[in-house]
Amino acid sequence: MTDAATMTTGHVGGAGLDTDTLMMMLDALGEFVGHALPPKLQLDLDRDDKCPEDIVRAMSDPNQLGVQLIFVPEAYGGMDGGAYDSYRVCEVMARHDIGLATAVFATFLGSDPILVGATEEQKLRWLGAIAEEGLVFAYGATEPEAGSDLGSMKTVATRIEEDGVITGYRINGRKQWISNGSIADVATILARTPEGASWFTVPKDTPGFTAGSPEDKHGLRLSNTAALFLDDVEVPADHLIGLVEGKGLVQAQQVFGYTRVMVAAFGLGGGWEALDRAIAYSLERVQGGAPLAEKQGFTHKLIVPHAVRLEAARSYIEDTADKIDRGLGEDGAMNCEGAIAKLMATEAGNAAADAAIQAHGGYGYTREYVVEKIKRDVRITTIYEGTSEIMEMTIGRDRWQQHLKSSGAYYNDRAAGLNALHRTHPTVGADAAALAAQALAAVLESCRIARLTRNQHVLFRLGELITYAECAEVFAQRAAEALDGNRHEKSLDRFDGAALAAMSRVFAREAAQKVGQEGVRWVAGSVTAGSADVASLLATIPHDAIRTAQAGLVADMDLVADVLYARTA
Ligand SMILES: Cc1cc2nc3c(=O)[nH]c(=O)nc-3n(C[C@H](O)[C@H](O)[C@H](O)COP(=O)(O)OP(=O)(O)OC[C@H]3O[C@@H](n4cnc5c(N)ncnc54)[C@H](O)[C@@H]3O)c2cc1C
Repeated sequence: MTDAATMTTGHVGGAGLDTDTLMMMLDALGEFVGHALPPKLQLDLDRDDKCPEDIVRAMSDPNQLGVQLIFVPEAYGGMDGGAYDSYRVCEVMARHDIGLATAVFATFLGSDPILVGATEEQKLRWLGAIAEEGLVFAYGATEPEAGSDLGSMKTVATRIEEDGVITGYRINGRKQWISNGSIADVATILARTPEGASWFTVPKDTPGFTAGSPEDKHGLRLSNTAALFLDDVEVPADHLIGLVEGKGLVQAQQVFGYTRVMVAAFGLGGGWEALDRAIAYSLERVQGGAPLAEKQGFTHKLIVPHAVRLEAARSYIEDTADKIDRGLGEDGAMNCEGAIAKLMATEAGNAAADAAIQAHGGYGYTREYVVEKIKRDVRITTIYEGTSEIMEMTIGRDRWQQHLKSSGAYYNDRAAGLNALHRTHPTVGADAAALAAQALAAVLESCRIARLTRNQHVLFRLGELITYAECAEVFAQRAAEALDGNRHEKSLDRFDGAALAAMSRVFAREAAQKVGQEGVRWVAGSVTAGSADVASLLATIPHDAIRTAQAGLVADMDLVADVLYARTA
């Protein structure tokens, strides 16, 4: 929710559940939500714009489902789940309802500052209450005039002092678009203190603390979203998280890799749910003498590319979640990787849901067929927890630095790694993924020589191209692991190694084409006529090889369609 991407970061997430426990939790979750939220009730709640608070509370109640136990450390009564566990749980929740998933996620988000920044005593108190009492939290960062740029926040906490000792804080301000805003038992509120932004825990019944009416939203209507008003709200000094002022933005930053992987999983779950409905529909719907599932002009536009992009996103989500759980990366936070996972998965999920409406024709435009609801719901994932544009900025900035630091070697080295993978696994699309990485290195270098990232638009577009190139790389690696029978024990592989290899080949071609073509566009488009030799800038982009690599694309799409429709070739 902020673009302060340069702060120090830390590792969050527990040791991780064992696989059996995770599978039991996923089964219990599916069963619980399937029972508590039957399709008619879900559509009625969506129409009436009503948050099912009873279901949210039952999901949080440790004596019923207790799903939030996943992200509470064992020391405070939780299950100590890791990022990989959270991704799997978030995807399942999102397949059911992204609004409901958001309500659960808000408790996680709301307790994050406590998880990373609170004193031991504060953790015992607040995390303990989440685990034992199923307390529902809200996360209050955004303000009417401070969304992507939290630095312009206006909410203020002034010290209350007695005999020179700080006994409490008086908070004044307003928070906007807060999930669980009017139902949460406790909100964590970001406010300016004399030493800088700081988080406070503010219980619901604190005098002066009120919530606005629920917002009338485009989608996500099962999630309560409301403004919060703080008028001379007084909290004791020990409600300042960590008991030290000025740590708020750092504490928010420390969890971005993790939380963005979770929102990425929402995009994935929503996208796949919509696509699976479109697949099922197209098996039944006969037009032009045969089911739509047999029409290449239908499947290769509305189904196959979306399935492929969603699986590319899954590859990156799984890779990032695994790295977070292993504490890898600078300080283990994986902020740039979380941004790549979120950008890819939420944009792919949104596009897949849109295609699913189209795939249903006129029926898709009606409420009864649900895909239009999913489309409205999944749309939020490209906005909250950092917009797609803020993701592009985060990614562009981070990898631009890597390019400069490595004197241009960063993506060329990755291309070399992919070419090596191609030699051992020639079917996984690593050759085309290598071309994407190589083209990216050339585009970045052209931008450096001609100083083109002074254009914000160019930096943001680089963020998108980087996302495609890196997802192609990780997808090829995943397909190779699947062929070797060497996948993460908690991975969700609905497709076998050969199918993943075909999907990876389709995606890698797209990535190479996109980086080559759009890279040229933005480099050539940013150079002032006559100021630089565009041809020499772009000479190192492997255009011919990218074109040649497209051969076999339609046959591979046929193959992916056969897999998705469970047809034997
Ligand atoms: C349903 C819902 C639930 C939410 N839940 C929560 C919650 O629980 N807690 C919470 O704190 N917040 C929550 N939010 C807020 C959400 O995180 C913000 O809406 C989001 O971060 C964007 O901020 P904004 O709305 O102020 O848009 P802005 O920041 O004003 O952005 C508007 C547009 O400008 C672009 N933009 C912004 N900055 C730049 C820049 N520097 N350069 C170029 N383009 C830029 C953005 O990408 C976007 O397209 C929620 C929002 C919604 C709608």
